[in-house]
Amino acid sequence: MNQEAAMRNQSVALPILGAMLMAIIAAAPALQSTARGQEIDPSELRFDYNLQPRQPLQIYAVGPREEPFLLERAGGIREVVHSKYKRRYERWRKEFLSTETGRRQWEMYAQRSGFILTVTVSAENPFGAETGKYKWNHSGVLTAATIRLGCKIDEGYPSPLPYPVTSSLKIELPYQRSREILAATKIAHEFGHVSQMLSEDSVVIMQNQLIDTYRNIFLTNGHNNLDPRLIELAKKMGGTAEQIYADREYWSEVNAMRYLLERISTKSFQCALIKRIRESIDLYGKNYEERFAQVAAAKASVSGCRWR
Ligand SMILES: [Zn+2]
Repeated sequence: MNQEAAMRNQSVALPILGAMLMAIIAAAPALQSTARGQEIDPSELRFDYNLQPRQPLQIYAVGPREEPFLLERAGGIREVVHSKYKRRYERWRKEFLSTETGRRQWEMYAQRSGFILTVTVSAENPFGAETGKYKWNHSGVLTAATIRLGCKIDEGYPSPLPYPVTSSLKIELPYQRSREILAATKIAHEFGHVSQMLSEDSVVIMQNQLIDTYRNIFLTNGHNNLDPRLIELAKKMGGTAEQIYADREYWSEVNAMRYLLERISTKSFQCALIKRIRESIDLYGKNYEERFAQVAAAKASVSGCRWR
């Protein structure tokens, strides 16, 4: 593009850019990001942009101490990642998106209207990740959730209870990108939580409405599960809060397994992973076996690795 054309394009691009910036700034009050584990007040973020001919448009946010934040919006996904974590985060994301499972799920949220998924990286709980900050509208529809990734999720293995899939990676995988694979497995686990919370299943919606009440009673009654109020709530929810949390962790591990078995397709390693997952299920999660056996059957049909 020559100079003149670049100028012309800029003058066309500026009103559009202005509108985009306004949209982002308008969305800022909902923005929660972290730096060194601390919450940043969204109103303290200043927005700026680079406009260079032939360069992709970059919009970024600057924190109160002038620290830059990576801020990208792709439809319904908002990534708020401190620049010091940018490179590793992009490696993890690329790894997750190298599978059809990852791409399909990412696209689904990127294109979903009425729902914003925020992804952040922080130093808090560096080897772990969590999904929370759920927001529901007045009709009980989930409109926002945040996945917080620890800044070292490419290291550290959780216990096989209730993480039979992520923990299975403890075996040495002679894959070049084994650290990214570990990080992407944890991302897949968190995406599993998001999809459960977005479920339109009436039982899940009802559990979401009651589980906080259950937890509050439990925390104030001396941790007594036999409290008649809790027995009544558990009957409605189809289990105690503890049982529901365990069930959800196992469902999220099912999503991690979908990614992992697609990524690790070499027969010997895939069979070794399935065997380890099954051993953990045999030890700690017999009630949840069927969901894992189904993923093994679907994802290992080419290699011929069997669940049993
Ligand atoms: Zn989880």
